[in-house]
Amino acid sequence: MLQNLVTFIQENMSALRATLKELCLIPAPSLFEDVRAAYCKAWLEGIGAKGVYIDEAKNVIYPHNCEGSSAITVVVAHTDTVFPDREPMPYREENGRIYCPGVGDDTASLVVMMYAVKYMLENDIRPAGGILFVANSCEEGLGNLLGTRTVMQAYKGRVRQFVSLDSHILQIADTCVGSHRYEVETLTEGGHSYLDFGNRSAMLSLAEMISAIYAIPIPQKEGKKTTVNVGIVESGTSVNTIPQSAKMLCEYRSDDVEALTYMEGQFARIFAEADCEHTRVRVTRVGDRPCAGKVNVAELDRLRNTCRTLIEEITGGSVEFESSSTDCNIPLSLGIPAICIGVYDGGGTHTREEYIEAASLPTGLAIAVKALCKLTEV
Ligand SMILES: [Zn+2]
Repeated sequence: MLQNLVTFIQENMSALRATLKELCLIPAPSLFEDVRAAYCKAWLEGIGAKGVYIDEAKNVIYPHNCEGSSAITVVVAHTDTVFPDREPMPYREENGRIYCPGVGDDTASLVVMMYAVKYMLENDIRPAGGILFVANSCEEGLGNLLGTRTVMQAYKGRVRQFVSLDSHILQIADTCVGSHRYEVETLTEGGHSYLDFGNRSAMLSLAEMISAIYAIPIPQKEGKKTTVNVGIVESGTSVNTIPQSAKMLCEYRSDDVEALTYMEGQFARIFAEADCEHTRVRVTRVGDRPCAGKVNVAELDRLRNTCRTLIEEITGGSVEFESSSTDCNIPLSLGIPAICIGVYDGGGTHTREEYIEAASLPTGLAIAVKALCKLTEV
């Protein structure tokens, strides 16, 4: 069935790179994926995909052979980038590498998914149970997996398995990391640094909370990992003002449900202890990524083994399994087998020096097409 895949890849590689460049140059921070979404929809319609639509979460959805099916395979690649930029970010090609913030995570995967659709349409491949292709929104940061949540709700009871394209070629994420994220604000009297010296400082109480967060005894369980981070702090108006307010964004993560609950208790204790008559502490939970629920182990193994065997056959390398926080958190929390595989190689993820190896794209496209065909064989 896939004999002409090699030819397809050769014939489409320069077009794929052109599509990648165009998409890279469309800024798409979480919640602002509109222009990328419109681009993907028009592109899919241009290659003959029927019934493509954009939902309320700005997901671009193409149901391929899904009509009446209750054994759908959902395939996602996210359109949003971790960067807040609303202007196009610098793009350059150099020594076989393509540089642009977001080029790998997850724009390269998105483009590979789009060309996998093209291959299926051109070769009239009708996957058993159908594939719901989703260029999804809000995977990064405070997007809080809104895109995937919305899709899984809309197709509730109809999804058999879930594949996220969002990793490097030899890395498979099969265990999900849950997290809770908070915006915390302290408010207190403040005043003039000299005249009011001795008044309470909102910055100081926030700093004390930060110290307390890093002093939490982290659960140490074999094979499990739990972390904390304070990522953004904002406070102060001038050098001679005692700050009246201060704000931070902080999180904890774990691939262990019990540790997640423990950390929740620890954070709640720290917030409660800092909140007193003179200093108010306002806490807003801005992120909630669940850990895995009860997933059929045999089904999860089938996903794992199929993808691993295939990727190792194609690359000759050996796959590493890891924990990560991806769109898979949502299906896994609902008990639906899910796996996150990679379709490019590169580095500098989540930095402005992010790049991909251009030569990895043909391999990535072969992996995507073969994996999706294999996982949806009758
Ligand atoms: Zn990603």
